[in-house]
Amino acid sequence: MTLAATATAAAPLVHAQALVDEKDATAMALGYVSDAKRVDARKHPAFAAEQSCARCALYQGQPTDKSGGCPLFAGKQVAGSGWCSGWSRKA
Ligand code: SF4
Repeated sequence: MTLAATATAAAPLVHAQALVDEKDATAMALGYVSDAKRVDARKHPAFAAEQSCARCALYQGQPTDKSGGCPLFAGKQVAGSGWCSGWSRKA
């Protein structure tokens, strides 16, 4: 076995989850955007500037993570800087 083949065989089997596509049907229904600065406040009057996925009770990443899981988008990652209409204040 070559060194390269050994390194490949030893590589961890980690598959990063894909980021949610804003054009995804669920994302469209929830008004998800990967950057909360692009939230259309006319469509989402409850939105406030300090809201983002990283500050949402449903966000499964750390507040400083660029992305993390969200139960509204199973199997995918949302951007920490993102937002959707399911935003909930952390307790
Ligand atoms: S529910 Fe919260 S963490 Fe999930 S996409 Fe919406 S704002 Fe982001």
